[in-house]
Amino acid sequence: MKTESMSSIPAGNLAERIRRTGASRVVLQIPDGLKREAVPLVLALRAEGIAVAAIAGDPCYGSCDLALDAVALTGADLLVHIGHAPVDERKGVLFEHLPFDFDPAVVAAAVPLLGGPAVGLVTTVQHAHLLDEVAAVLAAHGIVAEVAPGSGRTPFPGQVLGCSYANARALLAPEILYVGTGVFHPIGVQMATGRRVVALDPYTGDAQEVSADRLLRRRFALIERAREAESFGIILSTRSGQARPALAERLAALSEKAVVITMREVTAAEMINFGCGAYVNTACPRLAYDDQVRFPVPLLAPQEFEILCGVRAWEEYEVDEI
Ligand code: SF4
Repeated sequence: MKTESMSSIPAGNLAERIRRTGASRVVLQIPDGLKREAVPLVLALRAEGIAVAAIAGDPCYGSCDLALDAVALTGADLLVHIGHAPVDERKGVLFEHLPFDFDPAVVAAAVPLLGGPAVGLVTTVQHAHLLDEVAAVLAAHGIVAEVAPGSGRTPFPGQVLGCSYANARALLAPEILYVGTGVFHPIGVQMATGRRVVALDPYTGDAQEVSADRLLRRRFALIERAREAESFGIILSTRSGQARPALAERLAALSEKAVVITMREVTAAEMINFGCGAYVNTACPRLAYDDQVRFPVPLLAPQEFEILCGVRAWEEYEVDEI
């Protein structure tokens, strides 16, 4: 098995950006899928004269999870966070997001599924740089593409995150085209906007209309299961961009059986250890919607716990966003 590789992240450009910050020692943080790149990248940065105090080795899923503790521990003066755009304003952090290219012509595969003449365009940060070219292809097919400017947790035009669909909600078009892999984000877009959503995988050219119906049926069943719980753990994340202490406190006040539990990594083992009959997730929203299968008991979204407690009607269901 190959264990070593050269970094595919351009170290020269990154070194120049680090130098411009005036930092003298940096900590490097890199998402799980790119961890094999970390050591070669550090070696390449060293060759460029950059002092790297450490690589932050804990799991990293987004820029909601900055390794500020590693910076403090090592006495570094800059965190270099690779792979994501910022979700909030942070001093002392340099974000190096990594664009992933595809052939914009692939969007023609989605045209037969679009009603036109106007469609909203959304994508993830990796592909946000190609939305103008995607819009040009749609224009050649007589469809006007609308792209919302970046805002809040999603600073790139048209960007959506599993915890923020603000750039989809800002659209006026009656239907939305999501360009990216998987169905988690487009289903979230559908729940957040209530509009017709078509998802296009830019690598395979597969296009499909998505529906939140199955997910909602599963969530309804989980709420019913959670009603049997004798206690509820309200999970409060300690990650930098996931912590919602006011929300956790408000939810805990809804039930005498609820207790706030702080967690960094939300795992089945911790759920079993604490022994609650159900948990409520105020950490990354994706944990409840996408990872329930990993957990031994129901993990409800905040709005679902409100339904269980009778302070929100099922008809007022909303997707959880930070
Ligand atoms: S909270 Fe979840 S969806 Fe949002 S940036 Fe973090 S990992 Fe991604």
